Amino acid sequence: MTTREILVTSALPYANGAIHLGHMLEHIQSDIWVRAMRMAGHTVHYVCADDAHGSAIMLRAEKEGITPQALIDAVWKEHSSAFRDFGVAYDHYSSTHTDANRELTARIWLALKAAGHTQSRPVKQLYDPVKAMFLPDRYIKGECPKCHSKDQYGDGCEVCGTAYTPADLINPYSVVSGATPELKESTHFFVKLADFEVMLKGWLAQRRDAGGLQAEVVNKLQEWFADGLRSWDVSRDAPYFGFEIPDAPGKFFYVWVDAPVGYLAAFKELCDSGRNGLRPDDLERFIRADSKTEMVHFIGKDIIYFHTLFWPAMLHGAGLRTPSAVNVHGFLTVNGAKMSKSRGTFIEARTYLDHLDPDYLRYFFATQLVPSLADVDLDMKAFEDRVNSHLVGKWVNIASRCAGFVHKFFGGKLAAQMPASESAAYAAAAQKLSTCAALYEARDYAAAMRAIIEVADEANAYVATNAPWTMAKDESKRDALHVVCTLAINYFRLLTVWLAPVVPATAARAFAFLGESPTRFDAAIQPRLGASIREFSALATRIDTNKIEAMIEASKENLQAVAPATPAAPTPAPQATVATISIDDFAKLDLRIGTVLECGFVEGSDKLLRFLLDAGDLGQRQIFSGIRASYGEPEKLVGRKVVFIANLAPRKMRFGVSEGMILSAGSGGSDLHLLDADAGAKSGMPVK
Ligand SMILES: [Zn+2]
Repeated sequence: MTTREILVTSALPYANGAIHLGHMLEHIQSDIWVRAMRMAGHTVHYVCADDAHGSAIMLRAEKEGITPQALIDAVWKEHSSAFRDFGVAYDHYSSTHTDANRELTARIWLALKAAGHTQSRPVKQLYDPVKAMFLPDRYIKGECPKCHSKDQYGDGCEVCGTAYTPADLINPYSVVSGATPELKESTHFFVKLADFEVMLKGWLAQRRDAGGLQAEVVNKLQEWFADGLRSWDVSRDAPYFGFEIPDAPGKFFYVWVDAPVGYLAAFKELCDSGRNGLRPDDLERFIRADSKTEMVHFIGKDIIYFHTLFWPAMLHGAGLRTPSAVNVHGFLTVNGAKMSKSRGTFIEARTYLDHLDPDYLRYFFATQLVPSLADVDLDMKAFEDRVNSHLVGKWVNIASRCAGFVHKFFGGKLAAQMPASESAAYAAAAQKLSTCAALYEARDYAAAMRAIIEVADEANAYVATNAPWTMAKDESKRDALHVVCTLAINYFRLLTVWLAPVVPATAARAFAFLGESPTRFDAAIQPRLGASIREFSALATRIDTNKIEAMIEASKENLQAVAPATPAAPTPAPQATVATISIDDFAKLDLRIGTVLECGFVEGSDKLLRFLLDAGDLGQRQIFSGIRASYGEPEKLVGRKVVFIANLAPRKMRFGVSEGMILSAGSGGSDLHLLDADAGAKSGMPVK
């Protein structure tokens, strides 16, 4: 076998919120791969970093009254410790806001420029005159030009689903200052992606055929080529938290330029540190176009374009190597649904660690992970059952049933040899599990776990059939007992070697019990005979349902604190503008009490709930309300009283007609709270 040298990365978490189990799915997937490839004998360098740039970070730091540097430093500590405590063992965990990244980003940009792959031209964009900044689309809100819903984002309407540009909004306002944005012109820089069309088509096909890209990923990308590749806008105007573009004062690289370069910058820092047997000049050996090394990225399906179009184009255009593989996974769902803060299934990594063993989640994810873009579901019942049945009941149990006899009768030593039948059984099991190396490499962890559990079942059947606890009562059967315990402990050792990439901490305790620390899969080809083992102590305990419930409860409490901001949808509240109105203005509103008859999700909308209200003498009213993020269990609202505006003009929406508006308090998103009425209020009563 030739030894390969591989640089492995996970997608860079945005430095603007806590690590949650959705992130952990990817980082656990890549960590298992790294550990397995090392145990197969390859040299692997494993790096990641916080993605620390962009408007969202700048504005959040400002809101918290700290510098962006202070914000990203605090988040870095939290992120890096969450990964470490989950056993995700990066050789280096960096940030994109480093000198190494500044230099590499500039180098790639200048090379693209020198090769004629860049251009600049004026772009008209909405500008906040109060804040003196150009506004990203998500920081502009206004009325949808199509359905006239208020407070819709600049890139599309969440009520009717229409996509548009911020310039199309009616009465737009800046989410940052509340000011009316102005259209202002500014020079932007672009990478001419069309220059790379032929190269990218060839690269995608080549990587797909070589197993470096999933066919479903390559198929998804075909539509991008249909209309020709448009130039990619890579600059943002000051104020912006990021790297200034060389020779362009006041112009900054868009966060998606320096984020992937951050993979290489983190690796550069690792080379410079001298760890992993690397030296500073190893960076060039890795990134030059004809490098014999591999570069493997693990990402989620939401960032495919950046990694399979922009990133290889940038690298190739700068005369550097392209990724060997981009491994894409699906999203995490919990209990069959999108992670939800109100249901307590939006679980932060730290909250999980406060209640449960990280190896349990690693194992469960491994049983679910296959090399496709399918979503992975963390069903809490299945999680509990599988950990208890597989890890505790089938794996650890083998050792716990036999270790005591080895100490009681044989001085803690395994038999020096086994009869032919036992040797053959061991060899067959070892042969069967040797197929797992290829399954790990192909990221078919689910198939690897099935093979491991099948061998565990054989081992348990062997122990049950021979019943060492019965043999131990018969002094004439000591030798036979020794053989049974020796094969059983070797089965346990074999399983531990193959489970080690998935459950590293538990495996380390198991190896301490076995008195060795193997680092290679091939350590398990031969049984370990005549060796001493330590006293057995519990390696893993069953999951207690109460702990899962406590974790869900604690995740609900997180909601009461600050909801973690996400880069995709920053929603700082606009400043309230309160003008006075006359009592006559107020009287125009027909506010009424309604009783909820039906309430449920709306298919195709992640924002709306559909209500059917009993409005007393007004009859029944259907109203769509954008409070889904706050009320994840709409059926629980049935029967309660709400306050609604009865004389709002009916609005035709994609999902049906909305006949009024239900009132709630709060700033939006997951911070919305329905108003209540005291006992005595009846359906249809006016509110004055
Ligand atoms: Zn609309």
